[in-house]
Amino acid sequence: MATSAFQFEGNPLEISQRLSDWSQWTTKSGTIADGTTADKACEFFSHYGDDIELCQELNLKAFRISLNWATLCPKATNQCHLDGESLDYYKKLLEALKAHGMTTFVTLFHFCLPRWLSEMGGWNNERTIVAFAKYAELAAQELGDLVDYWLTINEPLVYAYQGYINGLWPPGYHKNYRLAFQAIRGLLEGHAQAYQAIHNISPKAKISFTIHWRPFVARRKVNPLDLISRYYRDYVFNHLFPLAVEKGQLEFPFPLNLSKELQAISGPVAGLKGTMDYLAFNYFTREICEFKFSLPLDILGRQSQIAPLEKTGMGWEIYPEGLYYLLTEDLAPYRFDLKNNARPIFITENGMSTCFPANTTNGDWSLNDDQRVRYLVSHLMAIHESIKAGANVKGYLHWSFLDNFEWSDGLTCRFGLVRVNYTNQERTPRTSAKVYAQIAALNAISPQCIQTPTRLR
Ligand code: BGC
Repeated sequence: MATSAFQFEGNPLEISQRLSDWSQWTTKSGTIADGTTADKACEFFSHYGDDIELCQELNLKAFRISLNWATLCPKATNQCHLDGESLDYYKKLLEALKAHGMTTFVTLFHFCLPRWLSEMGGWNNERTIVAFAKYAELAAQELGDLVDYWLTINEPLVYAYQGYINGLWPPGYHKNYRLAFQAIRGLLEGHAQAYQAIHNISPKAKISFTIHWRPFVARRKVNPLDLISRYYRDYVFNHLFPLAVEKGQLEFPFPLNLSKELQAISGPVAGLKGTMDYLAFNYFTREICEFKFSLPLDILGRQSQIAPLEKTGMGWEIYPEGLYYLLTEDLAPYRFDLKNNARPIFITENGMSTCFPANTTNGDWSLNDDQRVRYLVSHLMAIHESIKAGANVKGYLHWSFLDNFEWSDGLTCRFGLVRVNYTNQERTPRTSAKVYAQIAALNAISPQCIQTPTRLR
């Protein structure tokens, strides 16, 4: 199962003082579509004991959390220790996961910055990179024995896009490509330094980052302009970050590399080359794109309004075939490490939302989630097919375990296998949770559930 701190915890340490940029952001009017906040979310902070029991009852054996950097490093100091209260919580949480036999995945940055760093410019300020490396080192010292897999950064391109291009997330910039790409550079430097810091403490640690992978499809298959836009969107959104890690330097394709601003942030990043001990991808949907005439010319085009496949509650097309092609073809440039060993592959998020208002209470609403069952099984089948075709897939974490705070969409878009009634925090496993539990117990998909993706080439 996959979770993240801010979306689940409802951590009073964070909320009482608005320690992160996100808890501050949710207090501004108009930032969250349904007007909710994550002040309570699904109160994982106080319910984790029962929640982990439930996970075990569902036969699950791996759990992904993120650490809340803002509560662990709440003040602008040259700190040499993590906040005691917050550390104590994470120790107990990880100990509980281990006591229940879970393999643990721990993310260090899942979109939330300590507020004091965001006020200094976040990932565009060197100070954040230095602070991130120190935080990673301290986390490895204190928690390393309880962590099986580290993820430094969650979805760098989504973070840059939402925060600097469409302004939906903090820091809320619109179309500021310069700051967006500069933040990517900062995230690469932060990843490299955190990777080295953790490895200095535990040489055998397994460390990576995770990419939100989205197959891009040209709207008009024979239109060269749509194909160009498809190429650049794919390059920037999917490959920019992992290619930089693989090569040890940030590179932009022609003609983006002619820009003086991009030249200033291109080039080698110290300690970066090859720093992915395994491959981690979050996969949800595909995107159809088209070229749009505009001045200045934008080779990235835009997302098309046309989306013919069945959609989830958030309007995302259901396309399990994309996961198969990701695992068998698209990740080819990253398949082997510098010593030529095949990197293990993990799906660190995959799932879909259905939408019900946050204050929905009584009744069976959303429990018979047939669409999610189909989504889950078809994506697991795509993984199964990819393993048969030789992909080195070693694990799958569903997004998400419980209904949770969905960033600028608030509490309405529900991704949980387990329903959360936000008015009393009651948990009820949906049909999908029961199906998933059965699959996990058998380590196989029973014949009546099987749905092989139909659009495989
Ligand atoms: C993020 C999650 C998010 C999920 C669904 C991923 O992009 O890592 O935080 O809730 O997608 O949108």
